[in-house]
Amino acid sequence: RLEIKDLKRSYDGRPVVDGVSLKIMPGQVTCLLGPSGCGKSTTLRMIAGVEMQDSGTIHVDGRLICDTTFRVPPERREIGLMFQDFALFPHLSVADNVGFGLKKGTRAEKRARIEELLERVDLKRYIDGFPHQLSGGEQQRVALARALAPRPRIMLMDEPFSGLDNRLRDGIRDETLGILKEEDTAVLLVTHEPDEAMRMADEIALMRGGRIVMQGAPYNVYTRPVDRAAVAVFSDAN
Ligand code: ATP
Ligand code: MG
Repeated sequence: RLEIKDLKRSYDGRPVVDGVSLKIMPGQVTCLLGPSGCGKSTTLRMIAGVEMQDSGTIHVDGRLICDTTFRVPPERREIGLMFQDFALFPHLSVADNVGFGLKKGTRAEKRARIEELLERVDLKRYIDGFPHQLSGGEQQRVALARALAPRPRIMLMDEPFSGLDNRLRDGIRDETLGILKEEDTAVLLVTHEPDEAMRMADEIALMRGGRIVMQGAPYNVYTRPVDRAAVAVFSDAN
């Protein structure tokens, strides 16, 4: 369970994230939807811990991860990341890429987890291959396996599917979110495509100018927008 409260961040005196609060339960997908520059990636970076907020708090499963005086480092947050520029480590084999975040367990246990994940993304035959031998979509599936390997409680996804061609995208997206649901992960998925949000989300949070202007189940957000800002976010995003 991810809870962020009143997260704020300014750059050069300009507020970019201006009091964002969210709660995401295990097994739930929340889509953060909004136009370019509204602060989506900055929000995710603060949750991941690669960027420091000016104020606000982050809790994972009830445990304080970060406030203005206390900060758990990114690698100890049990938060998985999938970004658009998901870069695999080019000098590491597929197996070593997937196993990169696995800290606990014996060699054999790690290998078994790597095999299991590569099987799920249908790439086991490449286990001893290297990233440059794979297509873009295959690399993305390896990146997915890598992100899933340590069984993160939270998964942050910043347009992770946008580099894929249409044909591949739906399949990989559905498979990915299916695995995350099965593992009871809380997912925060950034997108600027309303269709993607409608299809994948349990809850949609519309963001604009550093704030969440509306939040709710996809049906409610789409069919009964309570204010013009919400509508504007949708049309901007197209
Ligand atoms: P997009 O949909 O285009 O990815 P976004 O919602 O993810 O947009 P952010 O990347 O969070 O937007 O950026 C929000 C604003 O903050 C932008 O105006 C950006 O220029 C600014 N910004 C982000 N990072 C920095 C930084 N390190 N220094 C200064 N300004 C920054
Ligand atoms: Mg972004």
